[in-house]
Amino acid sequence: MTTQHNSWNEMAGRLQFDGRAVINGERVAAVSGQTFDCTSPVDGRFLAAVARGDAADIDAAVAVARAAFEDRRWAGLSPRSRKQIMIRFADLILAHKDELALTETLDMGKPIRNARATDVNACANTIRWYGEAIDKVYDEIAPTGDNALALITREPVGVVGAIVPWNYPMLMASWKIAPALAVGNSVVLKPSEKSPLTALRLAELALEAGIPPGVFNVVPGFGHEAGNALSLHMDVDCIAFTGSTRVGKLILVNAGQSNLKRAWAELGGKSPNIVCADCPDLDRAVGAAIGSIFYNQGESCNAPSRLFVERSIKDAFLERALALMPKYQPADPLADDTVMGALVDKTQLDTVMRYIDSGRKEGAKLLVGGEQARAETGGFYVAPTIFDGVKNDMTIAREEIFGPVLSVLAFDEVDDAIRQANQTIYGLQAGVWTRDINKAHRIARALRAGTVHVNQYDEDDITVPFGGYKQSGNGRDKSLHAIDKYTELKTTWIGL
Ligand code: NAD
Repeated sequence: MTTQHNSWNEMAGRLQFDGRAVINGERVAAVSGQTFDCTSPVDGRFLAAVARGDAADIDAAVAVARAAFEDRRWAGLSPRSRKQIMIRFADLILAHKDELALTETLDMGKPIRNARATDVNACANTIRWYGEAIDKVYDEIAPTGDNALALITREPVGVVGAIVPWNYPMLMASWKIAPALAVGNSVVLKPSEKSPLTALRLAELALEAGIPPGVFNVVPGFGHEAGNALSLHMDVDCIAFTGSTRVGKLILVNAGQSNLKRAWAELGGKSPNIVCADCPDLDRAVGAAIGSIFYNQGESCNAPSRLFVERSIKDAFLERALALMPKYQPADPLADDTVMGALVDKTQLDTVMRYIDSGRKEGAKLLVGGEQARAETGGFYVAPTIFDGVKNDMTIAREEIFGPVLSVLAFDEVDDAIRQANQTIYGLQAGVWTRDINKAHRIARALRAGTVHVNQYDEDDITVPFGGYKQSGNGRDKSLHAIDKYTELKTTWIGL
């Protein structure tokens, strides 16, 4: 794979990253003139000086987004016209697939093969899907009395502020901007300070596709500065947030204490995966459990980080799991066959190492991994780590680690596994493996999670809602349900 590595590296050498904000269709420096350094977790290389947006930049972006909304340069287009432009936007993303994938890999550390095959494709697909959907959504007439007609129509909320995390930068951005734009809103997007580069390119491609200036603006910056200002802004009608539960709570407080903007939060997870002794295919269960926890270096909100396995098959399960480990050793993200890349930054590396340390200290048994890898590269890599003998009240079983660490908990009674699986502040996803259909339904119904996987863990589709119960959030991204987040319902009574 040396050839491929070299060709991606050559391309990386040619890429020029522009870290300025995109406001009203223009590339602009921060009002303060300040920048922050964006460096790569792959090997520490410098990528760009990025505009350090703060309240002044958010003010500027919200003002142009408001102006664009008021003059209806986008909202006033027919759904069919918006659809055509969004499809062009999706096509342009695919036309820049290599550039965007490479930027995502350098910025965030994920393997290039995942960035190409998943992140870029899924981002384009999301934008295309909402574009194609929007001229097929009908309004309603209510079944009211004889002398009146009540129309129930959807209208865009106005200016949407979107704040997204660093783990799937393009994809998380698309889950917000695609439905918000499709229904006619203007958007101000604040990407994570840890991976801001692809969002800025998306704004340029949107302009090239024909989304009018001012409709989709991107302001990079830190959470406590730009993010805080956006969620507090008095002229933002809706804030759509994806990130940690800690910051999600701040966002809801900010929304409430400013203008009571609609506030949606898609937050963290600590998803349980219950494998019963009668699981239909042990190899498949092992492959899915391991593949899903270590995908994206474990930096996935829905990673099945707590594995509940029935005691009678635990040894067989772990033996197969350990046999898969060589495939998941961290390697160069720019090589085409790498499946495990770098963590996003030094802070994340330190956090994961602290959790590994706490697992050891609290008495869990380290089966494999547990150490930093590839330190000589200047990047941030952790070996895939499995702890056996974990108890549900240990820190590694309670808190979201957001790294390649799997906690294994044995169970004897399925009701006990369900009880422990639900014993968490989170409720994003869950898995269950059994060939008994009644048991599968009973467990799926009992699990308090927004998504339950039965006898698989990797299915995903833009057509299904994504979101959590409890402190995993209060809304749903994806599917037509997401349109509810970005529209107001209006009733119009007409006397007859
Ligand atoms: P984070 O909460 O630290 O940051 C998310 C975003 O919020 C970033 O853009 C950040 O700059 C901004 N932010 C930080 N402080 C802020 C503040 N005071 N005011 C306003 N904005 C602020 O999360 P992260 O580390 O970027 O991402 C990881 C988290 O995201 C994990 O908990 C993960 O589970 C969650 N996540 C959830 C989903 C989902 O759909 N439920 C998807 C992906 C990630």
